[in-house]
Amino acid sequence: MKLLSTELYGSSPICLQNVLLSFREYANSRKRYGMGYYRFLHQLSGMDENDSQSEERYQDLELRSLLRHAAEHSSFYQELYGSDLTDIRSAGDLRQLPFVEEEVFNKRIDEIRAQNIQWKKREPEGLLASQIPHLWLTNLDLQKQTAAIDHFKKQHGAINLEMKRATFYHGDFVPLGQKEGAFWRDIYYLNQRLYSADHCTESHLSAVVRNLNGFRPDFIDGLPGAILALARFINDYRLLLDFQAIAVFVETDSLSVDERLEVESAFGCTVRRWNMKTERSPFLSECAAGNLHFNMRTGVMEFTEKGEMLLTRFHTKGTPLIRLKIKDQWMPVHCPCPCGSVHPVVRKPLQPISGFLQSRSRGRVTSLYLATVQEKFQHAAPSMQFIQNSVDAIEIWLSGTEIVPKELEQNIVQEMAGIFGEDMRFTVRGRSSSPAEEIGASGLIINNLQVPRACQSEYGMD
Ligand SMILES: [Zn+2]
Repeated sequence: MKLLSTELYGSSPICLQNVLLSFREYANSRKRYGMGYYRFLHQLSGMDENDSQSEERYQDLELRSLLRHAAEHSSFYQELYGSDLTDIRSAGDLRQLPFVEEEVFNKRIDEIRAQNIQWKKREPEGLLASQIPHLWLTNLDLQKQTAAIDHFKKQHGAINLEMKRATFYHGDFVPLGQKEGAFWRDIYYLNQRLYSADHCTESHLSAVVRNLNGFRPDFIDGLPGAILALARFINDYRLLLDFQAIAVFVETDSLSVDERLEVESAFGCTVRRWNMKTERSPFLSECAAGNLHFNMRTGVMEFTEKGEMLLTRFHTKGTPLIRLKIKDQWMPVHCPCPCGSVHPVVRKPLQPISGFLQSRSRGRVTSLYLATVQEKFQHAAPSMQFIQNSVDAIEIWLSGTEIVPKELEQNIVQEMAGIFGEDMRFTVRGRSSSPAEEIGASGLIINNLQVPRACQSEYGMD
């Protein structure tokens, strides 16, 4: 970033700024697009996302490699795990290991960092005490992360580095003093034109469109705000573009139906979301069926019973990130995706739908039925709550007791099976906290079902 704040850069004509920027990016891109990038990209292309066995095998292999690496090189994990990690063979075994709170992770990041790795001189970060410390990543970590993202784009037809790419990103490459003219720069080496997202405002947008028409990008990517502003402008003025992009990749995990339509009609191509909000977020990307998948070749995502999320990321050999409790809120969607990928589908938790629960074979069951169940067991279990996270299963929570007597459990399960059918699982659990704390306004039932678009008809969730 230093180059961009120098007087030389700021006072150069734009064509020279392009050259300077390309030089700088050449140095950066050698880090990002080294042999590790090409090797991993090639490896990913040869893998089959629809084959659960091979995908799981690969995930387990990567997991064991990261754990071994952490136990050997990081004093924090040495202390946390001890020396014996032989029991951990697969992602499912991870729960045997303790998880790490983010606060601890931040505080002890220097011990977490892998030792014995050649570090280049650390760039001054100027972080305030309140800011979250960055992970130190190796070049290979960066290369593999980049390859995973580029592989996703390739699956939708866009080949980075080979095709022309228009990227809307924060415009620190535009000198502060520049108030007009070209708010874009070329990185020749990467076949990429950077457009300043900060300058995607009404007064500059017609120039941006003219420039895009001249550049004729094969694909477009970047920040949602800028891409949306541009799309609205194109649609409002009914501008016809002189180029046909293959796809627009928006870096966001949520895009409303209207926003998607806006972008698709402006550029006349499909929009795909992907996201890795921070270096501590899971890598999520949208498939052809419009669902968000967690890329299990990049890590392991775990969901605890309390609805918390634990993330393990493979390409963090520099600062191993293992079972970190993160704040991102995602829920698993238990539904095979029509795209065929076995990578888990996730969704944002929505406001619970509390009017009904879903029976696999009998359709909707309204809260009235559940109220009768509660009434029936009132003496043994004064407070009950029914939670559905998947079409196959319902959890029944009894408050005020941690231990549920076997007989009571059997009776409740029998009652539920009578209402919902025998083809579902019912789990009865107790919790000691008072109902007021946990149940709150949501009351008797919580329906967390939300089925991905293409699965809806299958489950009759119209
Ligand atoms: Zn899918």
